[in-house]
Amino acid sequence: MSVNTAEIALQADNLHKAFGNIDVLKGVSLAARKHDVITIIGSSGSGKSTFLRCLNLLEMPDSGTLQVHGEELDLSKAAAGQADKALQRQIERTRAHLGMVFQQFNLWSHMTVLENVMLGPCCVLKRDKDEVEKQAKSLLDRVGMLEKCHMYPDQLSGGQKQRVAIARALAMEPDVILLDEPTSALDPELVSEVLLVIRELAKEGRTMIMVTHEMRFACDVSTHVIFLHQGKIAEQGPPEQLFNHPQSEHLQRFLSSQY
Ligand code: ADP
Ligand code: MG
Repeated sequence: MSVNTAEIALQADNLHKAFGNIDVLKGVSLAARKHDVITIIGSSGSGKSTFLRCLNLLEMPDSGTLQVHGEELDLSKAAAGQADKALQRQIERTRAHLGMVFQQFNLWSHMTVLENVMLGPCCVLKRDKDEVEKQAKSLLDRVGMLEKCHMYPDQLSGGQKQRVAIARALAMEPDVILLDEPTSALDPELVSEVLLVIRELAKEGRTMIMVTHEMRFACDVSTHVIFLHQGKIAEQGPPEQLFNHPQSEHLQRFLSSQY
């Protein structure tokens, strides 16, 4: 992808990650411009979650570089345990610019919906509590969850939990939102309410990188699609090209297994 660096929201170059002697990511690169919606597709075990977790450094890649918010991180130093204080702070800053939405929601069960959304801005960003509460309520309103703001996660359906998790990610005002199969844990009838929220975020111009098995949705909302196969990008391009004219046999086989 040739991209004007001024527009870059996130760029990863040549990420490698092994677990023991298993190479899970074998040099994966990605460049997301502002307002891009990039979807990552691929079979189970192809490294999609590991890739997303490496992008927000929940998992430390073994090597490669990551550029977020105009700062470039050399990951080999961090992986080799040579992260000095300056690099540690750089890692924390990078994480703070990225929001994450997980398949299993990962809400705090002992906190109300509102408290879940307010936690990051108050505790990590140290913002004023009243202001944060106002913003949190407006975000909950946008995902249709304001009425339930004093409930606890286990009083909610999966779709409602995921909408709260999306509001929580937005509350940190991230440059990029990473979503790992946000609808895979939902009962089929609850999938569409979450996809609708994500679709609205895309329309607003939010930059997103998303792993999904919802192929039709991916085809509709994405600006760019990446097909990961055994830890490498086997094919990528605009959705129309990937879904309608897959070139590689692996992608053809993968797509025909999805419908
Ligand atoms: P996907 O999300 O595409 O299904 P994953 O990124 O979860 O794939 O996993 C890719 C491979 O990496 C799998 O073989 C998985 O078993 C392995 N893997 C992922 N995380 C770990 C871990 N923490 N320790 C060891 N192996 C892991
Ligand atoms: Mg996964």
